[in-house]
Amino acid sequence: MAICIRTTDYSETSQVVHFFTRRGGAVNLIAKGAKRPKSSTGGAIDLLAEGELVFSTKTSGSLGILMEFSETISRAGLRRDTARLNGALYMIELVGEMLPPSDPHPDAFDLLHNALARLGQGDAPAQAVLAYFQWRLLRHVGLLGGLDHCTGCGMPIAEMPANSNVYFSSTLGGILCEGCDEASAEKFLLKPQARAGLAALATAEAGQKTPLPEPQASQANKLLAYHFAQQLGKTLRMTRHIIKAEK
Ligand SMILES: [Zn+2]
Repeated sequence: MAICIRTTDYSETSQVVHFFTRRGGAVNLIAKGAKRPKSSTGGAIDLLAEGELVFSTKTSGSLGILMEFSETISRAGLRRDTARLNGALYMIELVGEMLPPSDPHPDAFDLLHNALARLGQGDAPAQAVLAYFQWRLLRHVGLLGGLDHCTGCGMPIAEMPANSNVYFSSTLGGILCEGCDEASAEKFLLKPQARAGLAALATAEAGQKTPLPEPQASQANKLLAYHFAQQLGKTLRMTRHIIKAEK
């Protein structure tokens, strides 16, 4: 199985398509003639399309060659709703940036597949699905440390006074209490909603069904997107569409 995570025009009739495959990780393929309606792919391949992929690693320059792609999962539910669609586009952009080509990540594939399926359901809380996806992807790539205590002095986050300033440092990969905040110049102030959101995500990851209300989910998303941006050294194109501006 493969999910289309990026496309670029190559010529009038051909595309370069970046797929995230379950078995082989990310692959970059040239789809010759894909944009012709009678091509083997039935026309241009869209972002988020998921299906069976046949390709050859015989290269055309640095690209593999797409032989056949048949879309088996429709993302119609996702495409109807802008907020859900933006969340999905952010997820595939993140996967494309975080996971190097030709490096298999079946767990990350399943994570993406499941998150896209959930987002496409009308009753799914979009911000919560996105927050959990970011959390799990950070865990997968080894960028999620212990967020339940201060990385400076070890104080448990539950014991930090509610009205004190608590920070997250991407460089240190953890939390800083008010007393330790000078340990890093790079830091992100955690609002109470973000703290609660992170606690809920940790509980959910431990296998307990946990509600993640919208304000907590969106504050957690903001922090997790910040962490990715710091690690990548850039803000992703879709970030501003998934993070709500502060009022
Ligand atoms: Zn501390």
